[in-house]
Amino acid sequence: MIEKDRMPRLGIDLGGTFARAAVVDEQGRILAADKVALSERTPSAVVEAIARAAQQALKAAGAVDVNACGVGAAGQIHGESGVLAVAPNLGWRNVPLGALLAERLGHGVRVVNDLRAAAWGEFNAGAGRGSQDMYTVFVGSGVGSAVIANGRLVTGGSGLAGELGHTKVVPNGRKCGCGELGCLEAYVGGHNLMAQTRELLASGKSPAIRELTGGDPEKITPVTLEKAAELGDAVASELYERVALMLTLAVANQVTVLNPARLILGGGVLTHCPGLRRRVVEGVQKYASTTSREGLLITEAELGDDSGIIGAALLA
Ligand SMILES: [Zn+2]
Repeated sequence: MIEKDRMPRLGIDLGGTFARAAVVDEQGRILAADKVALSERTPSAVVEAIARAAQQALKAAGAVDVNACGVGAAGQIHGESGVLAVAPNLGWRNVPLGALLAERLGHGVRVVNDLRAAAWGEFNAGAGRGSQDMYTVFVGSGVGSAVIANGRLVTGGSGLAGELGHTKVVPNGRKCGCGELGCLEAYVGGHNLMAQTRELLASGKSPAIRELTGGDPEKITPVTLEKAAELGDAVASELYERVALMLTLAVANQVTVLNPARLILGGGVLTHCPGLRRRVVEGVQKYASTTSREGLLITEAELGDDSGIIGAALLA
């Protein structure tokens, strides 16, 4: 008989196109995993897709017993309500995902923001092991961060702590996906990096972006701007250095405020843009206050796409 708190748990990673489920042991190891494509995005269809992925993962793990489930979902989740207040990927507002899923699965479900889940996964089973105070920054299609202080995930008054992507870097600047103006994410998030690169291509002022894409805006990726800057293109370099500095200052200022022992950098944009990652690492050494970064270890996320599912399971 397995003790209750040592039972494997179910972790769910709910993205915009797939629901992934994994059976995770108490040390954060994935015992089995499966995924189901989201053909429809209505709450009931998504709950069914999650349930199917969960059943398949449980079967693959050898029909183990689980009594807890954690869901990491992209979006804003207020406190422990399990309600996805805003989930742009799914086009949802105020969907009580936790309650719907608990009813379907027959046991407790905890819903957390995907980046907070990923940070918790890294903290327990990845690049954060052994530290108590960790700050994690993910730059992918969006920009997010999570704070772990004294070994605890900082959630904030209404569960929204860590929204680095929506800190303002330009008063009345570019419109962000959240609806506000001048957010960091509106400049550095992968979607917005591509949008700004497309604008440069359309302006006709960047020979390197034209050369890299053959003039086709569809060929632009989040990496195109960095590559164009490396080719010495003047307007591409100007934009690239500007957005890199925005990200760097934002991260360095958080280091000054939080004084973490470890800074973990992850997400697709930072993984695929080594120049951007280097600027952030060097910039933190330059712009975070000298005392706040004493003993700071800056490292890359280790668990890749699995961090969210592992963290969600461990938070269940
Ligand atoms: Zn925003």
